[in-house]
Parts: sequence; C-alpha cells; structure tokens
Amino acid sequence: VIILVSSVAVLAEVYGDLLRAAGATERLMELLRARSPITSPANPKPLPPARGGSAVALRDVNFRYPSRPQHAALSQLTLEVKPGETVALVGPSGAGKSTVFQLLLRFYDVSTGQVTVDGVSVQEASLNDLRHRIGIVPQDSVIFSANAMENIRYGRPDATDDEVMATAKAAFAHDFITALPEGYATFLGERGVRLSGGQRQRISIARAMLKNPPLLLLDEATSALDAESERMVQAALESAMRDRTTLVIAHRLSTVQRADRIVVLDAGQIVEQGTHAQLSAAGGLYARLAAMQFDMQVAS
Ligand code: ATP
Repeated sequence: VIILVSSVAVLAEVYGDLLRAAGATERLMELLRARSPITSPANPKPLPPARGGSAVALRDVNFRYPSRPQHAALSQLTLEVKPGETVALVGPSGAGKSTVFQLLLRFYDVSTGQVTVDGVSVQEASLNDLRHRIGIVPQDSVIFSANAMENIRYGRPDATDDEVMATAKAAFAHDFITALPEGYATFLGERGVRLSGGQRQRISIARAMLKNPPLLLLDEATSALDAESERMVQAALESAMRDRTTLVIAHRLSTVQRADRIVVLDAGQIVEQGTHAQLSAAGGLYARLAAMQFDMQVAS
C-alpha cells in the first residue's frame, strides 16, 4: 500500500475505507495523516444530500503549491459545475487540471478564494464526508493483489457479491471477468492474472461506480487502446458519468464531445469554455489542441 500511495490520485482512491479494507493498520493511517497539514475541522458542517449529483464551485481561487511558492498553479480561477453536469477539463501540460482535482479533494488548501462542494466550503466539511462524496478514476488504474470480486469491492467494502456483479456489468467488466480462469475468484495483480490496459480501466471504473459518489473525478488514461477496448472503456465511462456530476481531464475526442461543457485551462486560468463545436469554430487554444491531440485517435 505504501508504494501505491506515491501518487496523490491513488491516495485519494485508497483513502479511508479503501485503505482500511486493503489491510492498512491504524498506524499507517496515522502516518498518512501526519504527512499532511490538512486536518478535518473540529466542528464540521454536514454536507447536504446531493441528489442527481453534487454542485461544485471554485471561486476566485489562487493556489501555489507549498513546495513551489513562486509559481501560481491556479490564478483567479472561477468554475461552477451544476448537479449532474459533465465538464471536460482540457489544456496543455501544467495548465492546472489535476490541481483542480487536488483542491476538490482537499489535498491542499487554496491560497485565496473558495472551493465548495454542495454549498459547503471543503475546509468546513469533515474530510471523511468530503472524500466519501467523491469518486476518482485515476489515469493509471490500480489493481490490488486480490481477486476480481475484491478488486471492485474496494469501492464499497460492504457491497454484496450481487451488487459487485451488477456494477461490473454496468462498467462492461462482467463479461471479461467471467471469462477469466476462475471468474470473479480469479486472483489479479502482480502475482495473479495480468489484465489488458482496457480491462484494468474497466475494473477501476467499476470500483468508482460501486462507491456511487455524487461527484466523479476522472483522469482519462492517455495510453492508446485497440479499437475494441477503446469502445468498451468509452461505454463504461458513459455509464459511470450518468446521474452524477463529473469532472473529467479529457484526452479523447469522444469524451469531450460527450461533455456538457469543455473548460480550457492554460497557465492556471480558464481561457475558453463551450461545446466542442463552439470551441472548434472559435479557432483558439482548444481548436489548436484538438487538431494536435485528437486527430490520431479513435473517434467513434
Ligand atoms: P498534466 O496534463 O501534465 O497532468 P495539469 O494541467 O494537470 O498537467 P497540474 O498538474 O495541475 O497541471 O500542474 C499545474 C502547475 O502546478 C504546473 O506548473 C505544475 O508543475 C505544478 N505542480 C503540480 N503538482 C505540483 C506539486 N505537487 N508541487 C509543486 N508544483 C506542482
């Protein structure tokens, strides 16, 4: 688990329940907490119920990473996302896309400005509540040393086998899992059956869906998949985004085309927003990025 924790996205995925389910001791949990200056407030504000997805807002956010105080990672960033909306974040490397995720998960506190989830400042909510509300699919899918059933169940440790299987179906993972030598009992991970990139992604998507969070943060994988895998992963993502708010760091044309709104970031600021058609016609940064990034990808 310690090795997995090297990536913040993964830390988010395995945080809390998941880490406990993975067999982390209280001592390890303490160590992880001690490494972070972020603490839960003594008297947290409860998050109101989020039906049909969370409302998310970043208002006038300025943020510098503590290790790099001379560099503004986000500048005067304002972004409001309505319940159920799917927003694609695009922009060149270093634009601040992952930083938006880190602030929503409250891995860092903003320098100035405010981040709210369902109307409550992330600093006023309990960290547990906040992170319970957020599901994450990292760019590199994590496969635990456990069988297929348990790998998905990490998303919600108290889920029944039937619930896991229903979710696997929705994430287009059920068919390949049942075709494994021992079906759901097949051991995965380093010492188990090796999955293809697309299969790993669908396990990761199923895990996030099982958690059933009102807010889904998706860091789309950049790795090229064969056309068949690509279609399955896209179908899984489509089903994962349904009935919740989704922010996706998008690398694929099919994903941005499906988004309700595309937000283009550059150097920590929003430079353009709109639909794929609008932004393509505008001939700005998006049009240039799209021409470079999307033309060699499977667009169906
Ligand atoms: P990419 O597409 O390459 O993942 P991004 O748009 O997600 O890029 P961020 O990772 O959010 O960009 O980075 C925004 C800025 O903050 C960059 O200048 C980056 O170098 C810096 N940065 C990111 N993470 C850290 C960190 N942990 N410590 C210091 N600076 C960081």
